[in-house]
Amino acid sequence: MKNEVAKRVIIIGAGITGLTAAVRLVSQGCGVTVVDSSSSVGGLAGSVMVDGIPVDRYYHFICREDNDLVNFVDELGLEDKLTWREAGTSCFVNGKTYPFNTPQDLLKFDPAPFLQRIRFGMHVAISQFRKNWLSLDRIAAKPWLIGKIGRKAYDAIWDPLLRIKFGEFHDQISAAWIWHRIHRVSRSRAGFFGMNSYGFLEKGCHTLMESMLGKLHQFENFSLVLDSKVSRIRIENNNVKGIEIADKDLMEADCVISTCSIPQFLKLAYPLGQYSASLASIDYLNVICVLLEIDRPFSNNFWLNVNDPRIPFNGIVETTNLNPRLDLKGGRLVYIPYYLSRNNPRWSMSDSQLMDESFSALKLIRPDFSESWVMKKYVFRDLNAQAVCKVGFSKKIPDMRTPVNGLFITDSAQYYPEDRTMSASVRLGMRVAGLAGQEVGLES
Ligand SMILES: Cc1cc2nc3c(=O)[nH]c(=O)nc-3n(C[C@H](O)[C@H](O)[C@H](O)COP(=O)(O)OP(=O)(O)OC[C@H]3O[C@@H](n4cnc5c(N)ncnc54)[C@H](O)[C@@H]3O)c2cc1C
Repeated sequence: MKNEVAKRVIIIGAGITGLTAAVRLVSQGCGVTVVDSSSSVGGLAGSVMVDGIPVDRYYHFICREDNDLVNFVDELGLEDKLTWREAGTSCFVNGKTYPFNTPQDLLKFDPAPFLQRIRFGMHVAISQFRKNWLSLDRIAAKPWLIGKIGRKAYDAIWDPLLRIKFGEFHDQISAAWIWHRIHRVSRSRAGFFGMNSYGFLEKGCHTLMESMLGKLHQFENFSLVLDSKVSRIRIENNNVKGIEIADKDLMEADCVISTCSIPQFLKLAYPLGQYSASLASIDYLNVICVLLEIDRPFSNNFWLNVNDPRIPFNGIVETTNLNPRLDLKGGRLVYIPYYLSRNNPRWSMSDSQLMDESFSALKLIRPDFSESWVMKKYVFRDLNAQAVCKVGFSKKIPDMRTPVNGLFITDSAQYYPEDRTMSASVRLGMRVAGLAGQEVGLES
């Protein structure tokens, strides 16, 4: 311990952000209690046991630009658990699968006219080196992309990402958000003619969570409370007093950090005037992910972009084509993510309906696919997994510091213009720990 501070911080949420903040605060001598409603840690980066091996509930890959995560992985001594590897991407368009890795692949991508393929390649190259994004915050992704690469290339490549992922919001998404996505992934390319290379942790997010927990449990001033849903953040005279779990007694704290999504946070703290009104104006997407363990590879891609009006998702992620360190005794992992706005009727579909729909779609992509290949199947769901970053979102990024003394929040809306990443979560965890540390009088 660097200095003895008897102050207590409660962190709501044992996901990456909450545990990162806890690691920082606890090692500075602060008393930290992390509370989570779930029976295990991880949140969106949680795991499920498949064949006795922890496997990410949602696919996770790392890009070369994810410096906050990579530096944290080093700090935790996990360098040898992080591997970088080339991984293939393809596009399924007009009933055909096109490799989509190198400039040569792009030249052969005939769903877009030749000149538009060239424009697409140039746009990726320029986005890779662009740094200033504020001017892009003022325009929508769709017209920006169409202007840069042409309508047909847009329809073949970007439209499914925006339309299927963001549904009713698809033409409101900010160009800055999509630019950062192109930027992040293209910076992971090994040279102009190379393929993308991505990073992965040996046992996915479990490797990171286990390491953080191992470090935290070395400190007497740390405690973890699972299976405990925070029902209220107690505030008196504009000062945070602590939290209530299941409407029971007060768990006192000098400082509270909420890392749950903003819609969840808004249910915990009484309305905080204009601050809450501004938070409530942000829209979110829910996520459902079908995870299949199959007895053979579905493809040789890590990522398959899907653009087919008959198919209700825009991609398939075959993690075992990126991470050969998952010792699954021959099983292969296929993730099928569905992003859904609150009003999307698919959210209320049963698991078996979703599974049937996914199987039918897989058969359209690979007609020989058979349900007999499936060894294990899972469906995961999370509410408010991602903020919808519309035009002008830079003005909506919520302040971590709430108007209440000692109360701080983190949320995916604060990653902007970045997409949801573990790296951004680590960055937010460190930042909010800095603010909370100042609040309780830790030396910075
Ligand atoms: C489908 C999908 C794919 C992704 N792919 C990638 C990827 O490839 N690469 C990458 O870098 N990142 C990826 N991410 C993003 C990454 O998972 C997130 O950025 C990160 O996990 C967010 O962590 P967090 O701690 O901020 O939030 P969360 O993980 O949401 O943690 C919040 C925690 O708060 C708890 N909680 C909520 N309400 C309460 C309450 N009332 N009381 C107590 N506890 C509560 C929840 O149980 C949860 O554990 C992906 C995310 C998704 C959903």
